[in-house]
Amino acid sequence: MNNVFDSSGVYLSTYFGLHPFVFGFVFLLFMSYLIYRIYQDNKFIHDLLDAFPQAVIVFDRNFHYTFVNSTALRLLGKHQDELLNRHITQVFGNNLNQAIYLQMKRALKDNQSFSKTYYSKPLKSHINASFHPYENGISVFIEDIGEKTRVQKRLETLESNFLRLIDSNIVGVAIENIEGAITYANAVFLSLIGYTKEDLKKKKLDWKKLTPSKFEEIDNEKEKILFKKGSIKPYEKEYIRKDGSIVPVLKGGVVLSKIEKTSIIFVIDISDRKEIEKRKDDFISIASHEFKTPITSIKGFTQLLLHKSLLMNDKRSADYLNRMLNQTNRLTYLVNDILDVRKIQEGKLVLNKEFFDINILVKDVAREIHMISPYYKINIKADSKTIIFADYYRIYQALLNIMTNAVKYSSESDPVDIAVKRDSSVVRISVSDKGIGIPPLNHKQIFDKFFRLNRGKRSSYPGLGLGLYITSDIITRHNGKIWVESPLYEEKNNDGSSRKYGSTFHITLPIPKENMHV
Ligand code: ADP
Repeated sequence: MNNVFDSSGVYLSTYFGLHPFVFGFVFLLFMSYLIYRIYQDNKFIHDLLDAFPQAVIVFDRNFHYTFVNSTALRLLGKHQDELLNRHITQVFGNNLNQAIYLQMKRALKDNQSFSKTYYSKPLKSHINASFHPYENGISVFIEDIGEKTRVQKRLETLESNFLRLIDSNIVGVAIENIEGAITYANAVFLSLIGYTKEDLKKKKLDWKKLTPSKFEEIDNEKEKILFKKGSIKPYEKEYIRKDGSIVPVLKGGVVLSKIEKTSIIFVIDISDRKEIEKRKDDFISIASHEFKTPITSIKGFTQLLLHKSLLMNDKRSADYLNRMLNQTNRLTYLVNDILDVRKIQEGKLVLNKEFFDINILVKDVAREIHMISPYYKINIKADSKTIIFADYYRIYQALLNIMTNAVKYSSESDPVDIAVKRDSSVVRISVSDKGIGIPPLNHKQIFDKFFRLNRGKRSSYPGLGLGLYITSDIITRHNGKIWVESPLYEEKNNDGSSRKYGSTFHITLPIPKENMHV
């Protein structure tokens, strides 16, 4: 029933295949006809109008109430006896809207319908009313739009509060569509990128122009996540300002409309933080550089003393000196790691490539690991001689990092297996351990700079979280790949539960065409 008498008439108009306006007109004519019929005392029509969800009031030519349907009674908060046969002024008294009353009189005189949206004092609400004169008087159809108006007002207030909040904020806010056009930007965002409101109006702001090419890929990736998940976690990127300078920012976002493919982005200027980070990096790399010379001489003298104590068969001293040498080597690797990170960041990590057999390199690394950690068992399974064209020192460093980790994160009783396998175009080196393992969730993160897994309070493994970052940079610079796989190793505990652990790191390196069959 409600649907059939939908106040907008849209349902019925669609049902009859008519334009809503044409339908509305026909509908009101029909209603007027029904009202005319009331005078012929047709009970059926009377009941029909009464059940009508819109308020219907009928006055005679002297403005006495002659019909008021139930909805109208509810709306006016009156009983039939308080209205029927009474004059409009009697009912409303001072609350009667004189302007509307005058217009009703005029309409009756001119036989002209009219509609009005206004605030009705007696009803204490906004109403939509249409007035239709006919032979015996005037009929009025009323729709209470108070709730609609209140909701709209509330929305408007919310919107203006929201915009005020955005404009007074320290966060740059902008609305961006999927093509990258910025359709709204607050003052903070504009000043951050050095553009004006006029530029925004002239549609001069778009993602392509504002984004340095090295951030295009990551931005595209983040946008995909944004529209899939509805929001993205803040990530670091840079913008190109109007004057061409670069500003580093932290950017986050939420989807505004999935249909229109628009999003709100939030941006914070992180120039200050970046500047501090740079100064800290500068300090660390200068300090590390200064450490290099003293460490080298400590190492040299330790080796000398070790040699001497071995000659004198002084086993105790030799043992101490051996430990000292190991620690000095560790210190050398740490200092080198810090300096390498700096080189990677500045794009200064140079490769000195040469041809060599990867199997020899693997054996050399295994020998060094054996010297540092003599109690670990290392198994090597290698295919035939495989010549690659690479930087021996850097690949050695990469593999040493992976094998040092394999030993560091497992116990002496567990062997480390190295497999070297070649196919037609690449050689794959896989290092498997049965140690504490890496949760799949962190398989990508472990290659990030300074990323270290939290292994609980009691277990403390030394390290800076730089080894895998440097390793993956070295491998990708050689057009190779590096990844870690989930372990298959499983052990049953006494209580019946089981634990999986162990990791396998894979590295692939290209075999040069001329050596593919060697
Ligand atoms: P570091 O070992 O100095 O912390 P890396 O960059 O070499 O730094 O490794 C990053 C993190 O990855 C380590 O902190 C460790 O949590 C994890 N990891 C690396 N290799 C292994 C491994 N073989 N077994 C378990 N965890 C590992």
